[in-house]
Amino acid sequence: MTIVSSMKCACETCLCIVSLSDAVQKQNQYYCSDACANGHPSGSGCGHTGCNCHQ
Ligand SMILES: [Zn+2]
Ligand SMILES: [Zn+2]
Repeated sequence: MTIVSSMKCACETCLCIVSLSDAVQKQNQYYCSDACANGHPSGSGCGHTGCNCHQ
């Protein structure tokens, strides 16, 4: 049995892969950062290299 330990950030425009152990969990979804988990309220991205999410 394989346990999935990482997955794509639940933010749709986000390209980040997050490991479940250090993801930001919100409503059963996993995000790479607080900004993503909160829907980018200030319009800023997650700040990870190569990721341009900021909606
Ligand atoms: Zn990201
Ligand atoms: Zn995002």
